[in-house]
Parts: sequence; structure tokens; C-alpha cells
Amino acid sequence: MIDLTHPEIGLAVKMVEQASHLAKQIQKGMVVPALAKEDSSPVTVADFAIQALVARSLAEAYPEVPLVAEESSDSFGTQEGQTILEQVIQWVGRIVPGATGKEVCRWIDHGAQQPGRRFWTLDPIDGTKGFVRKDQYAVALALVVEGKVQIGVLGCPNLDGSSLVVAVRDQGCWKARLLDEARNFQQLQVSEQDDPSQARVLRSFESGHTHVSQMDELMTSLGVQAEPVRMDSQAKYALLAEGKGDLLFRLLSPRQPDYRERIWDQAAGTLVVEEAGGNVTDLDGKPLDFSVGKMLVANRGVLASNGRLHQAALEVLGASKMNPESRIQNEE
Ligand code: AMP
Ligand code: MG
Repeated sequence: MIDLTHPEIGLAVKMVEQASHLAKQIQKGMVVPALAKEDSSPVTVADFAIQALVARSLAEAYPEVPLVAEESSDSFGTQEGQTILEQVIQWVGRIVPGATGKEVCRWIDHGAQQPGRRFWTLDPIDGTKGFVRKDQYAVALALVVEGKVQIGVLGCPNLDGSSLVVAVRDQGCWKARLLDEARNFQQLQVSEQDDPSQARVLRSFESGHTHVSQMDELMTSLGVQAEPVRMDSQAKYALLAEGKGDLLFRLLSPRQPDYRERIWDQAAGTLVVEEAGGNVTDLDGKPLDFSVGKMLVANRGVLASNGRLHQAALEVLGASKMNPESRIQNEE
């Protein structure tokens, strides 16, 4: 079992639980759902409030360890942004009474640091589009040391009731209900499926975050019978770790073929899968390199699996790369 009395593990679990609880509360009362960021991706009150709270605690406990997180207070520059900031101050104030706008912005921007030898990375709400749809999303926090993820914690409030998934390098991957006082952790293990035709494949819910026609082509090549399961966020990694899925493809969208994964979208989920016995590489079979900045610039997309199906998936990916013309007419 994981040592929850270890200071960094204990704090990471506590923060993810508190954040997941807050996300649920905010989601219940959400009226103005989202603000569009510069890249037109949505961001909500919950993303900012959680980043502020987690960053505040990490800055207090580990002032020297950088935090690399998704959001920044720059988003509050507009009139609409100011309305969001006021709501963020209110939500944060429920946990930190008297928190001011200036403090909230300072905490959020504590997360604007660059990765170092040892750093935290946070996606306050991974799968914001799922959160807005009241579907799957995850709070994802990880500690990375010398390019390797050491601790990965996922809070998935809508997964299997509500799920807290904690992975620590060499200590396995464990799941409990969120905010379960009894701390009834079960160890997770990937599936033993080794027949590609029977594989349960996971993909992003948003078609714009994957490559739909290439996915069809890969399914045909592997002989997969069931339709891929569409799901937002790193909740997919939790599902794979639990043996409820066998293969996960993060393909490159034809609209953004040069997209590079953000570390906060992958760090916690990668360790969750690996510590459950699975395998995670990029689409070329290379290990994910978390030592090169905020984006995984040395990797293209992600392939995660139960291990047994990894090679078969890499082979069809290799063939598909050699023959991209075959799907040009089917592009979305
Ligand atoms: P998912 O829930 O699998 O769709 O992944 C959610 C994450 O995908 C978000 O946190 C975004 O940072 C990230 N994302 C945004 N655009 C893309 C893209 N074009 N390809 C892959 N991932 C993306
Ligand atoms: Mg994300």
C-alpha cells in the first residue's frame, strides 16, 4: 500500500480530494459555464479556484519546488474575465476566508513556472469540456523528478461514483472513493487481454483532440470489434489502469498535426497506467520525456495500453504512418 503519511504523497492526495470536492460544488451551481482562452479552449471558475488553492498549499509547503500548471491570471484581463475572477474569489474564500483578488492571482501565477529538476504539475480541471457537459473530468497532480513522474494523483468525481486514483513509483496504483474516511484503497491492475479483436479502446470524447478516420483505420487493421469508448480527461487512464479498457490512443488531429501534449495532461495518468502494470509511449513507441519543458516536444501523441497489446498497436500505427493517403478522403 502507498505510504499516505509521506509528506508529499499525503499533501498531493489531500489537495486533489479538496479540489475534486470543490469542483463538484462549483459544477452544481454553474450558471456562466466557461470563458474562451486565446487558443479558444474553455476555462471555468473551477479551473482557476482549484489552481489557486492547490498552488497556495504547494507554495507554502514546498516554496522551492516549481509548479507548472495550466491556467494563468492573464485570462482575467477582460470584462468577462473580471466577472469570473469575482466568482473565483468567492469560492476560494470559502476555504481561505478573506482571500483577496490580489492573493488569488498571485497563487494562480505561482503555477506559471518552468519545469525544473524537481517540479509539480497540475491540471486543475482536465477535460474542461467534459466538466461543462457534466460528464467526465479529472483533477490531475503529479510530482516529476529528473524527468520521471514519481507521484501521480487523479481525482475523478464522476468516474464509477467518485474515484481517487493514486500512483507512486514502485508502490503501485491504488483507488479509493473520493473523501472516503475509511481510506479503503484497492490496488489496480491492468487487464490481461491479449487479443486485439476483443480490445476495449479508449479515445478522447472531442473529435478535435484525435484523428477520427485514422482511428477507424487502426480499428480495422487490429480487427477490433467494439466501437472505441469516448471519454474526456485522464479518467481514461484510470479506466485503463483498472482493467476496464485495454488500449488508449491519443492520435494527432488532422487540424493540428504538430500538436504536442502538455505535461499536466499526461504526467499523473502515465504513472497511474505504468504502476498498474501497463505501458505508455508515444505513437512511435518512444517513452514520454518529461524533462524537456511544458510540452512533450520530443514525443508525438500517446499510446497507452495494458502492455500485452502495445506491440500490436505500435505495428498498426507504423503501417498507418507509412500510408497516410489512404485516409485523406475521409478527413473530417
Ligand atoms: P481529452 O479529454 O482526451 O480530450 O484531453 C483533454 C486535453 O486535451 C485538454 O486538457 C487539452 O489540453 C488537450 N488538447 C487540446 N487540444 C488538443 C489537440 N488538438 N490534441 C490533443 N489534445 C488536445
Ligand atoms: Mg487538460
